[in-house]
Order: sequence, then C-alpha cells, then structure tokens
Amino acid sequence: MTPSPSERERPRTSPIQSSETIVAPATAPGRGALAVVRLSGPNSHAIGRAALHPWPEQARTATLSRVRDLSGATLDQVVAIRYDAPASFTGEDSLELITHGGAVVSATVVAALVARGARLARPGEFTRRAVLNGKLDITQAEATGDLVDAGSRAAQAVALRQLDGGLTRRVASLRAELIALEAMIAYDIDFPEEDDGPIQPARILQQTDAVVDALERLLATARTGQLVREGALVVIAGAPNVGKSSLFNALLGESRAIVTDIPGTTRDAIEAVVDTPTVPLRLVDTAGMRDAVDPVERMGVQVSASYVARAAVVLACGDSPVSLRQIGATLEAGGGGRSRAPIVAVWTKSDLAAPSNEDLVDARAATGAENSIPVSAETGAGLESLLTLVARLATGDALELHADAPILTRERHRYAVGRALDEVREFRAAWCERELPVTVAAVHLREAATTLEDLIGAVDVEDVLDEVFRRFCVGK
Ligand code: GDP
Repeated sequence: MTPSPSERERPRTSPIQSSETIVAPATAPGRGALAVVRLSGPNSHAIGRAALHPWPEQARTATLSRVRDLSGATLDQVVAIRYDAPASFTGEDSLELITHGGAVVSATVVAALVARGARLARPGEFTRRAVLNGKLDITQAEATGDLVDAGSRAAQAVALRQLDGGLTRRVASLRAELIALEAMIAYDIDFPEEDDGPIQPARILQQTDAVVDALERLLATARTGQLVREGALVVIAGAPNVGKSSLFNALLGESRAIVTDIPGTTRDAIEAVVDTPTVPLRLVDTAGMRDAVDPVERMGVQVSASYVARAAVVLACGDSPVSLRQIGATLEAGGGGRSRAPIVAVWTKSDLAAPSNEDLVDARAATGAENSIPVSAETGAGLESLLTLVARLATGDALELHADAPILTRERHRYAVGRALDEVREFRAAWCERELPVTVAAVHLREAATTLEDLIGAVDVEDVLDEVFRRFCVGK
C-alpha cells in the first residue's frame, strides 16, 4: 500500500461518530448469485446481534449465519463479516452481509435491518463517512466513484492510481511550496535586520517560476484525463467499397468492443468503442467520402466531414493507389472538414494485393499521412499494429509523459489547478511588472494556496463533499 497523505494534509475534521446507523445494498439490483448488504454506524453491531444467528464472534472473519426478521422468521442464509471501528471502510462499527442475489432476498434483509433501527443510506454515504473519518481523502473518494463508473481499462487504471492518493500528495506538495514561498516573503518583512540579509528577490522569483512550471505540468494532464474519460475519436474515411465497414467490424472483433450505435440513417456514421489498454478509441465508420449528388448520400458525406473535423486520428483507407489518392484529395480539399489530426494511410485488403514498400511511401504522400500500414479485415493481418499505432497517435506523448504522474480527471480538478496557476502568475505580474510591494502581491499566493486546499478538501470539507457525492450510487 502506498502511504496515505500526511496527517497535516488530511481534511481538518475530527473523527465523526455519526449518530445514525445506515444500511443499503452495495450491489446492483437484478438477478445474480450473490448480493452484498452493508450496515454502518454506532448501532450496527447491536442491530446485527438482534438480527443475525449466530453473531460473528470474530471481527473480519467470514461467518455463516442466518438473518431473521422481527417475527423470528429466517430471511436468508448469509456470510456475515463484522468490522470494529475504526478498522472498517467507513471508520465506524460496521457489518457486511453476503446474501443470496435476486430481486427479493437482499431487499427483505435490508428491510429487516431498517425495522431494527437502521435507516436507508443516501447515495455515496458510506464513502462520505470514510472521508469524514479520515479513511479516504477527497480525491480518493472521487477515484472510488470513478472506479465504479469506469467504462474502459484506461479509466480503470487512472482511477486506481488516484485511489492510491497520488493526486492529493501532488496537490498537497504544491500547496506546501506556495506556503513556503509566502513564508519566505513574510520572513523578509518580519526580520529585515537579520544577519543573513533580506531574502534575495531572485530566489523568490526562481521559486515562483518553479511552482508555475509544476502547476502547468499538472494542468496539462487534464487532456489525458479527458481522453481517458471520453475516448479518442478515430474516423475511418475512404471511398465506397474500399473495405471501411469490414475494417470497422474487424477492429471491434479484435478488441471485444462495447458497441454503441449512433442513431441516424444507414448512410450516416456508426460509432463503437474499442477498449485499448491506454485509451478507449471511439471508432467511427463514415459514409463513403466522395462528391455526392443524391441528397441523402450528401447528408452522409457531411456527417463524415464533421466527424473528420473533430477526429483525434483519421484513417485514410484505400485498397489501391487510385483509391488512396481519392481519399487523399478529399481530405486535402477540406471535404473531410480540414482536420489537423494525424492521418494514417491504411492499405486495405492486403490479402488480395500486398503493397510494396514503394506503394506504402506513395500512400503516405497521397494522403498526407506520416504512417502507412497494410491491413486485412479478412485475415486479421495488421489490425493489432494499427490499434497500437492509433492509440499512440491519439494520445500523443500524453500517456507516456503521465505514466506515473497523477492525472486531473475532473472539471473540478482542472478548474482549481487552472485558477491556482492564474493566481501565481498574477503574483508574478503584480510584483515584477506592476512593481507592487512583494507583500501586497503575495495575496495572490494565498489565493492560490486556498484554491489547492479546496481541491483536496483541506478546508470546507462538507461543501466539497456535497459536490463530490452528488453523483454517487447508493451503497457505495
Ligand atoms: P466500404 O464500402 O468501404 O465500407 O467497404 P466494405 O467493408 O463494405 O467492403 C467492400 C467489399 O470488400 C466487400 O465485398 C468486402 O467483403 C470486401 N472486403 C473488405 N475487406 C476485405 C479484406 O480485408 N479482404 C478481402 N479479400 N476483401 C475485403
């Protein structure tokens, strides 16, 4: 386990002993072998003792037990695990019951516990208590939500890293640097007669620039966070019949994709998500791109153009020099919406006619691509290399740069870090350009530090919690 952020950086709250005991199913409703019911709060053990036969005598040990309702009727045979405060997820006395799944059983177990004095938990309330009791910090709580909501392996990996507390540590250390800078300025004022002489302005400036640089680097990770959350748009473009749909399907098959149809006509575009280890790719199969006369077809081509304009990567497909030149000319003419995204020349149907090296060089020249790759939807040749190449192009060097660094995954993070950066720049401008006294300009450093404190929940923890838990599911 990675160590938690130091106590000093923890939310300024003393352990909370909430007076209410809460209960909720922690698993999604519906048919399933098992379900988990959670109970937490000061009376959870008393309620459990009354409802469970036998009561688990050992903490953190799975015990086979039965749940009974108020009349003494058995509702289910369960595996019960008891946790004693503070050694639990919430930091409170709690209980986890693994019940049988399905629509009825866990609901009756929850009802029996409510009948004995627990109340139904609100969304995210267990995690909220964990934060208030110092078990998790606020970005770790967000990561818990992100992990539950993860729709791709990339999102899962980023959330897991955030769960380690990396983002909080990074923000806390930036805040500490700002406070050190403020202290340096204050020292200069308080002890101007010190033997060492006043702190050199050059040193203050150097520290300021170091903080600006660090904040800029952290802010730059927001793009990666967005890519991981939303996926990168990859457009398959080319003349009719060059094998676009076959490539689309083959790439999806290759990756066991989550397919999501986009409403529209058959000449519109269809979109599906290919989950690569680094980034989800939103693959779009466009209508054949060529001059269209028929109005319905023209609509399809316009859709293509608008997709190409928004693409992170464009696959310019062709099964011959002629068709590659055709798509190259269409993209060049702006029929593809004048994308500035990287283009990959994809030589399709390589099983029919494998391109020579010269053909591939020509394909790059014809389409304005930096890379060219032969693929066959029929045999699968080249598909994996294509996915790897596209994932790399879609993310630029962002993922490599941020491989071990914390990433800003939410608008809340981006806003706070952006504001802190503005404030530090403002301090520099006020002091160096507008020549205000350094102590006056330093109010901006205070603002920057406070903004970072808000981000990690070091102040006004309740307000931030309201915002964070608004979208949590019940039982988490
Ligand atoms: P689109 O109009 O560009 O979407 O092209 P399609 O995917 O519909 O393919 C057009 C034709 O080419 C179909 O008859 C496909 O079976 C054929 N085709 C597509 N990809 C391949 C391939 O990799 N190898 C071979 N041999 N035929 C292919």
